[in-house]
Amino acid sequence: MSSFVDVVLPVPLPGLFTYALPADLAPQAQAGCRVSVPFGTKKTVIGLIARLHDTAPVGIDVKPVAELLDQSPVVLPGQYALWQWMADYYLCTIGEVFKAALPGKLKNTSRPTHSRPTNSRPTNSRPTPNPSRKGGESSGLNEEYIAQPLPSLTGGVGGGSVGGGSVGDWSAAGSSSLPTLSPAQSTALSQIQDSWRQHPVCLLHGVTSSGKTELYIHLIAEAMARGEQVLFLLPEIVLTSQLTDRLRAVFGPRLGVYHSKFSDRQRADVWQRQLSTTPYDIIVGVRSSVFLPFQRLGLVIVDEEHEVNFKQQDPAPRYNARNVAIVMAARSGARTLLGTATPALESYYNARTGKYGLVTLGERYGGVRLPAIAVIDISEQRRKRLMNGLLSQPLVDAIHEALDNGEQVILFQNRRGYAPQVQCHVCGWVPRCPHCDVALTLHKRSGRMTCHYCGYTTDIPARCPACETPDLRGHGFGTERIEDDIARLFTDARVARMDLDTTRTRTAYEQIIDDFAAHRTDILVGTQMVTKGLDFEQVSVVGILSADTMLHQPDFRAFERSFQMMSQVAGRAGRRQRRGRVFLQTMDAQLPLIRQIVDGDYDAMYVSQMLERRDFGYPPFTRFIIVYLKHRSASTVDALSREATLLLRQHFGTRVLGPDEPPVSRIQSLYVRRIIIKLEPAIPLPRARQLLTDVRATLLAQRLYSAAHIYFDVDPL
Ligand code: ADP
Ligand code: ZN
Ligand code: ZN
Repeated sequence: MSSFVDVVLPVPLPGLFTYALPADLAPQAQAGCRVSVPFGTKKTVIGLIARLHDTAPVGIDVKPVAELLDQSPVVLPGQYALWQWMADYYLCTIGEVFKAALPGKLKNTSRPTHSRPTNSRPTNSRPTPNPSRKGGESSGLNEEYIAQPLPSLTGGVGGGSVGGGSVGDWSAAGSSSLPTLSPAQSTALSQIQDSWRQHPVCLLHGVTSSGKTELYIHLIAEAMARGEQVLFLLPEIVLTSQLTDRLRAVFGPRLGVYHSKFSDRQRADVWQRQLSTTPYDIIVGVRSSVFLPFQRLGLVIVDEEHEVNFKQQDPAPRYNARNVAIVMAARSGARTLLGTATPALESYYNARTGKYGLVTLGERYGGVRLPAIAVIDISEQRRKRLMNGLLSQPLVDAIHEALDNGEQVILFQNRRGYAPQVQCHVCGWVPRCPHCDVALTLHKRSGRMTCHYCGYTTDIPARCPACETPDLRGHGFGTERIEDDIARLFTDARVARMDLDTTRTRTAYEQIIDDFAAHRTDILVGTQMVTKGLDFEQVSVVGILSADTMLHQPDFRAFERSFQMMSQVAGRAGRRQRRGRVFLQTMDAQLPLIRQIVDGDYDAMYVSQMLERRDFGYPPFTRFIIVYLKHRSASTVDALSREATLLLRQHFGTRVLGPDEPPVSRIQSLYVRRIIIKLEPAIPLPRARQLLTDVRATLLAQRLYSAAHIYFDVDPL
């Protein structure tokens, strides 16, 4: 029996923490079980046993484990190995991954789920020396995991009733059976299966409404018939309800849903169920579902694989769930299918260069034609005085026509709120967030202004604080203002707005979608939320109110993103019998990209963007790692970023770009600087990562910088 455990704690400190294992707990303790332990000033913190051993740390008294919270592991060996990979790759600590991975209920509770045997000593009667910190992760950890029996699983892995059955066996679970595929869909299906014989990852490039979801359903059914589990990843919670309805109709209760709008308890229940002998066969979820335990993962589907939402921005781990899912599948010997109408350039590049398989589905189901996209030159409309607020005359006419025919309309504006900002029309004063370097956004419904970075909210001042002018006005436009224009122009239409502000709760967005699907509303106004894989039958007109806000973002991916977003939102039009109409309003009608969108010519967009990426050395030809530096003092962060740049140049030479101020250079009272490291494919990543962590440690060791934050964003989006 071991007398020590090395524990992962949910803290941003590297390494594992050693604690003594009281003799009464030793018989039950296993790698993958949670413990509560004293840590720092906290009485107890919940951690995860990574390793049991008998090597007493030299020269330090270790604190004892307070409670053992599990009788059997809640984290499986493969899961833990993946977390380690994430910590390495994304340059964070295993503790940060652990913190992000476990549902709150499993990591916050101070109440043990299994009480300690009665002969336990009260923990506060023990001496409390500091726990010793191990320098690095124990290399023996995986072996340790493998050596541990996993009693809770023995029934589940081999003894389940699934496996070997025919497709018909499980369909009974749901109420409807598998759809009959069209000839084009059947061909695509067998191409995907063929492709998997050579490549573990296949990219399905299928136009909007081609029936990708129907293909997924067939592939899921096959995987289940082989006794495999399926992970179905979606970029956005909004999409889960429509999709789960479709999948539930076929797979019934064998499907579990996992995302952050569910309560902690529900998520903890899904987690526990995945460990049981009767886990869900299919998990539908957003990015955090890559952390779940799977016992026999056979298929991973990533729908809308191009979506930026798969990347977690803050806090660490700053991971891309699509990429983690691919690694996860590879480690379990599972296949991966990436599906989209508008692939990420990186994925398409991987497919074209033979790293992934590629299957194309070029026609819509039922022979419906792709929508006709009309480009509307806003400046011309203005000159001719044909703009009705934010809507051009052709769009207004089309909306009238659609409403008269009992059809529905989607209007897309890539900005929420009433206006991006309030501005004094006399002196130009703009209210800004006191904590962040951004203008506040006006929300007319609430009559207040909000910072979209930190949530700071305040009333609109009655007078301009700079020049005393009354009547401060909104500048530019967002979704709220469009809603107003519509109410004025189409007095009888029922309008709904879908953006972050109206979808804070799960029921709120489900209600908006349900209402629109049931045609209780006629016009849906929204941000990029409305661009995603939603399927509504009666939408005949889509309006893109301003392509320009997207096109002119200061980001080398702006054109790729614009193509994706506009093609996706256009794809919401005319998904059934009739050909839909799309009105794309822009000041830049001659731009080649606009032509590519109108023609639905992804390949042309790909070729022109890739030429640019190659010339400038951008991904996928290089790999970016951004070093973020933050401090309360602007002068300190400047000094720090200069010194960091010098140090990094010693190792990386001209691959270091910066330092610069990001577009928002102060967030939550911290000044931000960043340095970009641009690595060509030949650079060995492990070495680069080691150098980066060393530089960070060197900087943080200086007293001047001890309060600074330095972190990395690997493969930023
Ligand atoms: P995508 O995911 O490619 O956008 P969907 O799977 O949502 O496309 O398909 C578009 C519409 O066509 C959906 O309403 C879907 O039910 C219908 N559809 C697609 N394929 C079939 C099929 N083989 N049989 C019946 N309906 C289908
Ligand atoms: Zn003023
Ligand atoms: Zn703010």
